[in-house]
Amino acid sequence: MSNLEKDPGELLVAEPAPDEGLAEVVNGVELLDPREVPLGGPRAMTVRRTLPQKKRSLVGAWCFVDSYGPDPVNGRGAMNVPPHPHTGLQTVSWLYAGEIEHRDSAGSFALVEPGQVNLMTAGAGIQHSEVSTDATTTLHGVQLWVALPDRSRHVAPFFEHFAPEPFAHGDATLRVFVGSLLGRSSPVTAFTELIGAQLDLPAGGSVTIPVDPAFEHGLVVDAGAPTLQGVRVDTTQLGVVPTGAAELTVEAGDRPLRALLIGGRPLGEQIVMWWNFVGRDHDEIVAFREQWQAEVIGGTDRDGRFGHVDGYDGRALPAPELPNVRLRPRD
Ligand code: MN
Repeated sequence: MSNLEKDPGELLVAEPAPDEGLAEVVNGVELLDPREVPLGGPRAMTVRRTLPQKKRSLVGAWCFVDSYGPDPVNGRGAMNVPPHPHTGLQTVSWLYAGEIEHRDSAGSFALVEPGQVNLMTAGAGIQHSEVSTDATTTLHGVQLWVALPDRSRHVAPFFEHFAPEPFAHGDATLRVFVGSLLGRSSPVTAFTELIGAQLDLPAGGSVTIPVDPAFEHGLVVDAGAPTLQGVRVDTTQLGVVPTGAAELTVEAGDRPLRALLIGGRPLGEQIVMWWNFVGRDHDEIVAFREQWQAEVIGGTDRDGRFGHVDGYDGRALPAPELPNVRLRPRD
């Protein structure tokens, strides 16, 4: 999905987290509330954004988490996101309900369905569109982004699709869609060490999962109100366990749990995020925006950085104005 905010701020993502305020920390678990973000565009959808935020920008290299739905919708075009660009990141689309047609400038056409990961590596630059299908009566899912490390962020764009086999561990059912967990691996490409999995528990169920202590982890709760390391995480919150934990224990409590477990080795790099771009400094973001506006919106180069999308009925999304504030990476 695009970041369709009308007036997105430029965000400097630095590690350690900036001093704007620390997350609420209970027994070593950070609890992050979502920000409700109304998206503009053809459909006035509100998403729950748990990353990035001032209190924490990254979990491993995961840099963006938008949860949405369940929203009752009426078929084709209920979600209709025109072609828009990305740079320096991977988009990870994970649905609980609904179907979305994906088209991108790497030549991909794919159906995004529940339980199947669609991973798009933007690298040097890509554009894509997303349109819900006629059959879609409910839209419910999560859009995540992974920041690419500096050494890999200029790779040529490509698209991957994978349907993980669910498996049981403890009381949980797990689907590993990125990275490896409990001996199960996803074949999609990760450029830093990462994990991404759906974790379901029945009411009253619990699971303990051995993890890499070099990773930080986050639990993106969609349904239920579980405990993570014994700490209650409310529905819609992101609970974060910093590096150093050798295992994660999740207990569902009195309701069934559906959540995503994300994690990875800390990126260890500063990035600048604005709109749908990840770069390393303000000037690079300005250049990405100018290229998008000239080559795609202005139509000067069909085969430029962002290529072209075939088969979408409509025009590409113009970039918003840049904010006046100029951010500089920190030392
Ligand atoms: Mn997108």
